[in-house]
Amino acid sequence: MEQKIALIPGDGIGPEIVREAKKILDKVCEKYGHSFTYTELLLGGASIDVHGVPLTDETIEEAKKADAVLMGSIGGDAKTSPWYQLEPSKRPEAGLLKLRKSLNLFANLRPAYLYQELKEACPLKEEIIGDGFDMVIVRELTGGLYFGERKTIEENGVKKAIDTLTYNEKEIERIARKAFEIAGKRRKKVTSVDKANVLDSSRLWRSVVEEVAKEYPQITLEHMLVDNCAMQLVKNPGQFDVILTENMFGDILSDEASMVTGSIGMLSSASLNETSFGLYEPSHGSAPDIAGENKANPIATILSAAMMLRYSLNLDQEADAVEKAVQTVLTQGYRTPDIMSEGCTCVGTREMGDKIAEAID
Ligand code: NAD
Repeated sequence: MEQKIALIPGDGIGPEIVREAKKILDKVCEKYGHSFTYTELLLGGASIDVHGVPLTDETIEEAKKADAVLMGSIGGDAKTSPWYQLEPSKRPEAGLLKLRKSLNLFANLRPAYLYQELKEACPLKEEIIGDGFDMVIVRELTGGLYFGERKTIEENGVKKAIDTLTYNEKEIERIARKAFEIAGKRRKKVTSVDKANVLDSSRLWRSVVEEVAKEYPQITLEHMLVDNCAMQLVKNPGQFDVILTENMFGDILSDEASMVTGSIGMLSSASLNETSFGLYEPSHGSAPDIAGENKANPIATILSAAMMLRYSLNLDQEADAVEKAVQTVLTQGYRTPDIMSEGCTCVGTREMGDKIAEAID
């Protein structure tokens, strides 16, 4: 299979972790007979240094031409980097927000998976962790409260702020469909999270999700109120497979779910549009404090590349092989400094990539 992949190394540890993810993709191509061609694109601080802006129109066009985009991370140290002397619209993060918008990425996927080998990093009690957990939060990314009309007014000398939460049927339908499709590739359960006891937008959400569910009879659907979901994530995380929710609830719940895994260097993410196209990136930032020191954990980026294989390139077997290789290397006891524990072997970014590449069968 021939595929065009845009690589955005970005800033800080970005180039190091993307280099390792590419090493894994090269190994996948070799083992499974695929051919990926890569275009490297500049974003964030790296683009400011060359073009004076964090994202150029050419970069957007090149990204659109690709089948998928794999990104490291962007940004620098806000206190010391000259990028943060620029006005907000010219800073690194503005480039990423504009890119996401230009690519119409409305579905954000954040998996939270607990590796038994990293159980010590999980803040939950042993009896709650049980056999571990493996869930994906599917969050609507371009609607709801963050994109609704807002204003601050003054009434009789008292300031009043108004934010509006709007969703239409089409927006709910397309994100629900993504969640059901993803559940079809997993354990076939969707938990739709809302606040239908209070909000109209949630009542519409619930009824549209129920309609979409009829097209997926093999998937079990349950509804859960967002306050209960926040509790269940720390009480019984093993019950979840795919959590489907709107923008603000998803923002909060996905951070909660990822903290429960305990290891920032392990958390992958994907943002998808209506086609199979997606932008794949680790959930962490550019870690300027360890950039260039061969200390960064490349696993979040490697797992993001596995998501790219699964969701954009439809290569499930290859995605399984990458995820299994990560598992094997952890079982063998190799750890980057951020996840190091007693009795394990500490390795650098490059060595971790080598070990995972070797473990792909
Ligand atoms: P960060 O995630 O970069 O770092 C937080 C801490 O986690 C640091 O101690 C760092 O060393 C560590 N860490 C992060 N990723 C790691 C990895 N793969 N391996 C080992 N350790 C890792 O968050 P921050 O320090 O708040 O932000 C740094 C820069 O990243 C800022 O400019 C911020 O705006 C940017 N940022 C970018 C993205 C993105 O590109 N999507 C996301 C978050 C933050």
